[in-house]
Amino acid sequence: MPTYSHSQLSTYETCPYQYKLSYIQKIKMDTEGIEAFMGSMVHDVLEKLYRDLKMTKLNTLEELLEFYHQCWEKNWSDTVQIIRKEYSAEDYRSLGAKCITEYYKRYYPFDQGKTLGLEETIYFPLEEEKGYWIRGVIDRLTLLNGSVLEIHDYKTSGRLPTQKDIQSDRQLAFYHMGVEGKWKDIQEIKLIWHYLVFDVELQSLRTPEELQRLRQETMELIKTIESDREFSPRESPLCDWCDYQGLCPKRKHRVVTENLPPNEYLNEDGVNLVNRYVELKEKKGVLVGEIDAEIARVEEALLAYAQLKELEAIFGSDHVAKIKMEVKEKYPLKGDPARRALDEFIKSAGKWMEVSDLNPWMIARVLERGGWPPSLAKKVKEFATVEKNRTITLTKLKERD
Ligand code: SF4
Repeated sequence: MPTYSHSQLSTYETCPYQYKLSYIQKIKMDTEGIEAFMGSMVHDVLEKLYRDLKMTKLNTLEELLEFYHQCWEKNWSDTVQIIRKEYSAEDYRSLGAKCITEYYKRYYPFDQGKTLGLEETIYFPLEEEKGYWIRGVIDRLTLLNGSVLEIHDYKTSGRLPTQKDIQSDRQLAFYHMGVEGKWKDIQEIKLIWHYLVFDVELQSLRTPEELQRLRQETMELIKTIESDREFSPRESPLCDWCDYQGLCPKRKHRVVTENLPPNEYLNEDGVNLVNRYVELKEKKGVLVGEIDAEIARVEEALLAYAQLKELEAIFGSDHVAKIKMEVKEKYPLKGDPARRALDEFIKSAGKWMEVSDLNPWMIARVLERGGWPPSLAKKVKEFATVEKNRTITLTKLKERD
């Protein structure tokens, strides 16, 4: 039975290549980001808090923090990666302790409803006839006043979503679908997020229409996943936290070279090729700049010569340089203070549609063709400034007219 989870779908949305490695090739990596590690330790502590409460044991904050530090030490290993080098493992450990402390103080003595489930697995058909199933694990399920079912989710993310983000969150909406109809007399299902780093609780509800829309969108996404033949890597700032960087065509060379000692690094073929390529590109840039400057000097000299000798064509051995002097009217561009007045003027003259987006080039053409009454053309021309264009075109002698 094809089964998907919210995190599986999110992985595809973030990067199809990561999805392929993780969910199709099922490659397990032994590295883990410290943010995920810290989140998992905090989850363990809150699970213990409510599990013990079910047995009527209320832990003190000190007991919970001691448990947290024990979990941290027991599970810590060198495979936990710190991406943000400005922070140490201790910084993350303190942040986790702060999350637990603030949560404890906020909800003590934890008598807001009855805990029905902890780390509760859900598994439900997305659309019976198509045979797709959704699975997930709810952090905590609570019954309030015998008729309100609360789905609680703990987050240790450093980003606080807006209410709008929460309103379209897929994960807890799936959980809603997963628990719907499981208990009698439930009149409302509430989705509750605990953003522990901010000590903020966010809540939302889902209507049957919103859930139906989510079902359809999820089916569309599943169709996209199942018809994907490429699973192309999609780079984003999240790549730094991706456990598959060492296998990814976009990142693996970097991973390999980062770990080379300096002497081997400078001898690595790829590094050498890129460095040589950059060197040549830069050299080319300098040469092109020098040649352009020389061309500009010669052009100036040619124009001066043409003016002095009253020439429109200057002959070399194989080429003729034709000199064209023209005077053009230029109309104010977007951003020019005079532009607004010009726009208004043309609109009031009822000619706006002819130059719809007031393309200055288009105005010049319309006026050149004599398409507007002389009095109007005269007034529009008052917005114009005069620009002298000088061009030199090289033509092979045998090709000239
Ligand atoms: S490193 Fe980035 S592009 Fe490569 S698989 Fe991971 S998320 Fe995708």
